[in-house]
Amino acid sequence: MIPKSHPRYESLMTREKIVEGVEKGITSIQGLIAQGRGEAFDYLLGEKTSKSALQAEKVSAAVLLLAKKPVISVNGNAAVLVPEELIRLSDIVNAPLEVNLFHRTQERVNKIIDHLRSLGAKRMYTKSDGLIPGLEHERAKVDIDGIFSADVVLVPLEDGDRCKALVDMGKKVIAIDLNPLSRTAQCAHVTIVDNITRAVPNVSRAAEELKNSNDNELQRLVNEFDNKKNLNGSIEEIIGHLTFIC
Ligand code: ATP
Repeated sequence: MIPKSHPRYESLMTREKIVEGVEKGITSIQGLIAQGRGEAFDYLLGEKTSKSALQAEKVSAAVLLLAKKPVISVNGNAAVLVPEELIRLSDIVNAPLEVNLFHRTQERVNKIIDHLRSLGAKRMYTKSDGLIPGLEHERAKVDIDGIFSADVVLVPLEDGDRCKALVDMGKKVIAIDLNPLSRTAQCAHVTIVDNITRAVPNVSRAAEELKNSNDNELQRLVNEFDNKKNLNGSIEEIIGHLTFIC
């Protein structure tokens, strides 16, 4: 057992959740590697939400509230790290969940759907009758009524190819990725450089605060946001943190 007093308790508990996800057949074994890469960047960020991330989280909430047909994509890591938080965000911004996996098997998709439903997910897209153009791997499979026809897609822990393919389809893409240099981070419209465990509750909180704002106010927040500048801000915050501890 990991004692609560451990200085890196949160990070170690997150690691345990991912291992449990693999044991249950929800997370792929490759998900462990993705988590490791994420942890490394989180370490460089001081394992806290940066100013740039908080700004991107607020803008993401505005984008989701303005959307006509938003969808939240869920992979095997997200499903074990923040299932309840994703369900809550889905309810607040009226964005159904859709399971989408790189290492896809129908059995794993079904397990994740059952897992999310057992925790209270009500609105989910569960078909795989559409294909994202330009992608050859399994992540191309989507629900025609879900991601395929969405105007805004939130993609926590995405791979760069699919992020680009979604952008090429004309969708507005919000990514959560601790690596500000990844292809996903560079190609999304709004990139949240934060741990998914902090990012999703922060977007929900911002959405609740912005819920009564009118569309002009929300649009102003979106128009003032520059993703490249924000990513540079995250990189500067990493450098600042490194300078501070060295
Ligand atoms: P890309 O194709 O975008 O360059 P990649 O090949 O570097 O991505 P993948 O293995 O496809 O990366 O996806 C893992 C990504 O998710 C990594 O960039 C990693 O930083 C990020 N990541 C992993 N765990 C978390 C987490 N808990 N919170 C936020 N981001 C995470």
